[in-house]
Parts: sequence; C-alpha cells; structure tokens
Amino acid sequence: MIIEIDKIPEQGMSLEGVEPPEVLALEQSAEFHPAGPLSYDLYAQLVDGMLIVSGSVAAEMRGCCARCTQIFSTTVSDSGFLRDYSDLQGMEEVDVTEDLRETIILNLPRFPLCDETCKGLCSQCGKDLNEGPCGCSKGEEGGAWDALNSLNL
Ligand SMILES: [Zn+2]
Ligand SMILES: [Zn+2]
Repeated sequence: MIIEIDKIPEQGMSLEGVEPPEVLALEQSAEFHPAGPLSYDLYAQLVDGMLIVSGSVAAEMRGCCARCTQIFSTTVSDSGFLRDYSDLQGMEEVDVTEDLRETIILNLPRFPLCDETCKGLCSQCGKDLNEGPCGCSKGEEGGAWDALNSLNL
C-alpha cells in the first residue's frame, strides 16, 4: 500500500482497503498461507515532517493443524499497528506494504492449531478424536487423564 505524501491533508486522512494475498508472500514450507486479502484500516498523519501511520491490519490465514492435520482458517490481526517514517525529504510516496506484511507475520500463532482444545489424532488408529472417541483401549494413560479431569471438576 503506497501513501502519497502530498495527498495527506493537515488533519490527516484515513486509509482503508485491501492488498492481494500475494503481498504476504510466505514460503511454500510456511505453516500458514494467506486465505484472503490483507485488509487495513489506517490513519496517516504528517507531524513535524514525519509520516505517522497507525491503525489495524488483518488477514485471513489458512494452516494445517499440528494435532489433527485438518486444514483450518483463522483471522490474524493487529489493531495496534504504528509506524513512523522520517527522512521524507524529496520523497513523494511511502510504501508501507512491507510493514503491513511484517505485522501479520509477527502475529501468526506459534503453532498451527485448529482449536486450542483440539484433541488430535489417536496415536494408535489415527482417527480424528474431535469427531468422537475411537475404539482403541484407553490403557494407563487414559486412566490418568480421567483422574485429572475429575480433579479439575
Ligand atoms: Zn486440530
Ligand atoms: Zn484409536
């Protein structure tokens, strides 16, 4: 997203819009991939010869759950975007795309999980336990978890 400096009025201006998913340009091996455009709702202001841009950035991302391997999508956003650009001498425009991209990437979850409570796959039969229990015997481990669950209650 390019901000044309001479178009910013004294009181500042709001900038709303979207950038195509390609601007996120994540590596093929990345855990998340864009599932939609990067959207922004920003306010640009010139203060003492410095361009200040603040607002929110969001993007719909798709990931593969690390526990159950299902593809899921999630909205990654940051409402505290704030950047200042100085040294505007002789410049007509400022490209903030890279900073928008960086903000989304910094806000990606550490682990791709479809849901924090995702039960994952059964280690024995591979069934997705979110869909219901499988027929495998619970064994010692299951018993321990049951005991913990009743303690929490
Ligand atoms: Zn999952
Ligand atoms: Zn099983």
